[in-house]
Amino acid sequence: MAALRPPGPGATPDAVARVAAAAPDWDSVAAVARGCVACPELAAARQHVVVGDVPVSGRPLVAFVGEAPGATEDETGRPFVGRSGALLDLLLAEAGLDRAECAVLNVVKCRPPGNRTPKAAEVARCSGWLHRQIELLDPPAIVALGLSAAKWFLGPKTVLARAREFGGQPWNGRGLYVTYHPSAAIRFGPNGAPRAALAADLRQVAHLVGKRESP
Ligand code: URA
Repeated sequence: MAALRPPGPGATPDAVARVAAAAPDWDSVAAVARGCVACPELAAARQHVVVGDVPVSGRPLVAFVGEAPGATEDETGRPFVGRSGALLDLLLAEAGLDRAECAVLNVVKCRPPGNRTPKAAEVARCSGWLHRQIELLDPPAIVALGLSAAKWFLGPKTVLARAREFGGQPWNGRGLYVTYHPSAAIRFGPNGAPRAALAADLRQVAHLVGKRESP
């Protein structure tokens, strides 16, 4: 198959989605996404397109979806490797989930300058990548970390606390869990409600996918 051409400046969401949908496997999605310049402001400022982490097996137990890369992720090209990632790793380990068996993805693959919230147009243009990633990885469970991710799955009117209370809902044939973003857990401190809620939610997901939390 001829190499896919990455979306150019200002490519529409549909055009990006068509390129993503034509990528036959994870490596080709990653390769073509790395050349995407559909969002000129993000493409000009980025060091890396942070495509995501996937297990060697290619079949994650759970896919975690955050908002967008931060500074450390932009520098390294890997998702959730800064402060939020350190807390996520700690809470995953406490829940008995091995990050190496999970996928770690973001709604938007390029760092928004100054870590601003991604604009709706950026989310729309980037969506084709995440849709194709989920289709290819076929995770039985998905965890949306924070409001941007929750809205991507459930729509713009989503209220995080309410979506979280469902404790798991069907989304395209998979179990979707909504919880707090690790950055909220950091902001409210180690004794704050978001950290306790995030830890409890990860334990529940671990339990549902058959993993035991550490004693
Ligand atoms: N926050 C996110 O939402 N994603 C990352 O990859 C890092 C921080």
